[in-house]
Amino acid sequence: MPDISQRAKNVAPSPTLAVTAKAKQMQADGIDVIGFGAGEPDFDTPQHIKDAAIKSLQAGFTKYTPTSGTADLKKAICDKLKRDNGLDYAPSQVIVSLGAKHSVYNAVLATVDPGDEVIIPAPYWVSYPEIVGMAGGKCIYVDADESTGFTVPIDKLRAAVTDKTKMLILNSPSNPTGGVYNRDQIKQIADLAVEKGFYVLSDEIYEKIIYDGRKHVSIASLGDEIKKLTITVNGFSKAFSMTGWRLGYAAAEKNIISAMEAIQSHSASNLVSFTQPAAIAALNGPQEVLGQMVAEFDKRRKYIVNRLNAIDGITCATPGGAFYVFPNVTGLFGKSAGGRMLKSSADVEGWLLDDAKVAVVAGSGFGADNYIRLSYATSMANIENGLDRISEAVSKLQVDFRKG
Ligand SMILES: *Cc1c(COP(=O)(O)O)cnc(C)c1O
Repeated sequence: MPDISQRAKNVAPSPTLAVTAKAKQMQADGIDVIGFGAGEPDFDTPQHIKDAAIKSLQAGFTKYTPTSGTADLKKAICDKLKRDNGLDYAPSQVIVSLGAKHSVYNAVLATVDPGDEVIIPAPYWVSYPEIVGMAGGKCIYVDADESTGFTVPIDKLRAAVTDKTKMLILNSPSNPTGGVYNRDQIKQIADLAVEKGFYVLSDEIYEKIIYDGRKHVSIASLGDEIKKLTITVNGFSKAFSMTGWRLGYAAAEKNIISAMEAIQSHSASNLVSFTQPAAIAALNGPQEVLGQMVAEFDKRRKYIVNRLNAIDGITCATPGGAFYVFPNVTGLFGKSAGGRMLKSSADVEGWLLDDAKVAVVAGSGFGADNYIRLSYATSMANIENGLDRISEAVSKLQVDFRKG
């Protein structure tokens, strides 16, 4: 029997999808599980966006489109990048893909060679290391913790640069931590990239989900030199509650976009035709729903942070963006539940699911074993109930005398 490829063997399945699947199975078995695993907004796609897709489908817009997206959509994206991000891109510098994840994949495949090093601030989004690995690149992790709001200080990034550094992946606001880099920090990263000459892949999917008056800064807007080195990735999943639509895009220098287009032309071709007018409607239509969604997330954020910090053994920094909290659970390590000692984030994940019937995601999958991730893209009632369950489960933990 021939075997599957080494490349495939090296890919780890998504841990966030795994815990969500397990929780769904428990629910299907009649167990009342509260899910904090989801990485998607719990709001519906706004009606005017759905209407645009329906109209387009009914008008028979059902054939291949240009690989990189229709001219109208690329124009709407250029207008958006100009309006929201202060970025000047021509339509030939934009490619639309099947989700921002696909854009990240194409961007890495188009730029990273085997042996190239890619700097990834940790905690990181689970897909970055897998995608870099598929390209044959080597991940260089640089850790951050809550003391800096989960942003990596510039000297640590500088220390990670070698003559093999090809790219740095920036994700602000961040999944899983909600960390947000401020303008000065982004400027420092831009200066470093220009000085050393490496690409920056800037995943800006959470740009609109940001709190306390913070302003999102697109690194490519900080000057011509850094713009040439940047691949800006964005999409519709998070800002417009369109995760199932699979709509994302990238903007960069033309040679990079052309390379991404060549790759996409032989793997996916164009994204779904009749979603493209809907994407235009999302960008050019009313934006009020977004404000309402962020206001709701903000309420939940404050509530969940307070509740988590009130639990003995858990400390939670206040995230500046996205819809996740990333509490430190090392205070629970060494305690035990029913004879089972908690020693890692995976133990905490398993114990909370079994004992408290609450689904969270272990930090280990994000490169940070001292933490767990909770998404607050779920109703306030679920959050209240889930936090009650977590507090109760923690109060029943016993100090394990075998420790140490
Ligand atoms: C959700 C997410 C994406 C992917 O979004 P899609 O457009 O649905 O593929 C990309 N990056 C990060 C950090 C995310 O959390």
